[in-house]
Amino acid sequence: MQIMNDQKKIEILQKIIQINSVNSNETQVADYISSLFSKFPEVDIQKIAYAPNRDNLVLTIGKNKGPMLGLTGHMDVVAPGNLEDWNYDPFSATIADDKVYGRGATDMKSGLAALVVALLELLEHKIELPGKIRLLATVGEETGEYGAAQLTKEGFADNLAGLLVAEPTSNMQNIVYTARGVIDYKVKSYGKTAHSAEPQLGINAIDNLIVFYHLALERLLKFNKTDPVLGGVTHNITKIKGGEQVNSIPSYAELMGNIRTIPDYPNQYFYDELEKIIAELNQKEGFKLAITYSFPEEAISGKPDSQIIKIAQKTHQTVLGSAAKITGSSGANDGAEFLQAKGDFNSIELGPGSNTSHQSNEYVEISDYLNAVKFYKQFALDFLQNKQIRKTISETD
Ligand SMILES: [Zn+2]
Repeated sequence: MQIMNDQKKIEILQKIIQINSVNSNETQVADYISSLFSKFPEVDIQKIAYAPNRDNLVLTIGKNKGPMLGLTGHMDVVAPGNLEDWNYDPFSATIADDKVYGRGATDMKSGLAALVVALLELLEHKIELPGKIRLLATVGEETGEYGAAQLTKEGFADNLAGLLVAEPTSNMQNIVYTARGVIDYKVKSYGKTAHSAEPQLGINAIDNLIVFYHLALERLLKFNKTDPVLGGVTHNITKIKGGEQVNSIPSYAELMGNIRTIPDYPNQYFYDELEKIIAELNQKEGFKLAITYSFPEEAISGKPDSQIIKIAQKTHQTVLGSAAKITGSSGANDGAEFLQAKGDFNSIELGPGSNTSHQSNEYVEISDYLNAVKFYKQFALDFLQNKQIRKTISETD
C-alpha cells in the first residue's frame, strides 16, 4: 500500500478546513474522514446523528484485547466574524509562509486532521495494536459540547483507558491536565407596566433585576478558594437588557452571567447558591425572577502525575525532542463530558495550533501540524504498550 507523504497529509487538513462547519454541517466532515478509511475494511465506523446534518463520528481500530485509548477532536468551528479582517477566505485553507490559514486551522481542525492521519499511518504500516484506539469526532463543541455529551450518554467513552483531547496547546508545547468549568445563566425578571407618572401602579422589572445583580455578585464571592494552576473562580454579568420605552415602568428585564469554575467547586454549588438568591427574592413583594442555564460544564481536576501524562511526556521527549509543560487551561473542553463515562480514566489536552483560536487570520504552522501527526502515532503505541496501563486494565477486566 502506498504510504502517505507530507503533501497528502497537508491536503487532508486543507480539505477539512474547506468544509464550512460553523455550528453545523459536521456531517460533511464526518463523511470526508470516513471516506479516507474506506480502504481499510477492518475499521469500525459509526455515525451517530445529533440532528439533521450534524453527525458525530466514532471510528475504532484494532481488534486485539487490551486497553482502549480515546482520541477526540471536535468538527465544528466558530463563525469567521468580519470577513474584511481576513487576508484570505477563511474557508480556502490558503498556504502562505509555511502556515495554513483558515477558520479552524488552530481550533481545532489541525488537531483533528493530525489524529486522522496518525490512524491512517498506523493502518498503512499494518501495525498490530496491542489494544484499540477510538477516535471520537464530535459536533457542537463550541456551543455546548453536546456531541460529546451525547456520545458519553450512549456509552461510546465507557471504559477507556485514557483520553487525549487534540485541542491546541501552544504548538504542542503544553500538556493540559486540568481545566476550568463554565456556567452560563440567564435571569428573567417579570414586572408590570404602568405610566411612569404613576409608578405605584406598576412593578419595575429592572429595579428587581438590579437587586439580584448585586446580591449574586456579592454572594458568589464566598467561593474564594484558589486553584494552584487555574486560579480563582470568576463571575461576571455580561449581558443585560430590559424596558420598553422611556416613559413606561418596565415590565420585563433580563441579564446573563458567566461563571468560570475550578475543580474545588462542583457546579451544583453555584446552582444552589443562585437558586437560593432567586427563592429569597421571590418571597419579597413584587419580585418574579426565574433562572435558566445553558451548556454548563464541570471543571476537570486531573492529576499532574497520572500515568497518561507520564507517557505523553516521554513520547514528547522522544518524538519532539523537548520536555512539555504540564499546565491548566482556562477554557472548558469535550473532555469534561467524556470523563463522566463509566470507568476511571484521565484525560489530557495536547494539540497543534497557534494562539489564533477564534480570531481572524487563524493559522497553524505546517511543521507544528506534522509534528502532531508524528506525536499522536507514537503516543498511541506507547500508551497501549505501557505496562502500568495494561496492568490496570487486566485488573478491571
Ligand atoms: Zn476547540
